[in-house]
Amino acid sequence: MAALNPELLAILACPACEERPPLEQRGDYLVCAQCRRAYPIRDGIPTLLEEESLPLDSIPNDDAPPPLS
Ligand SMILES: [Zn+2]
Repeated sequence: MAALNPELLAILACPACEERPPLEQRGDYLVCAQCRRAYPIRDGIPTLLEEESLPLDSIPNDDAPPPLS
């Protein structure tokens, strides 16, 4: 996966939230922490469409810390 341009990431906002919160890149998705939606990044282009979003819980989470034992 390629990291998005930080300047691009800085101006992107969740289309589903009125507050337009900033998004966080997680693997091949942009994630909104507020509504817990994940927007797929396809060929380096973020797909910021509410109808294309996935529940945050349904995407692979490579960044999660290992579970506490
Ligand atoms: Zn949102």
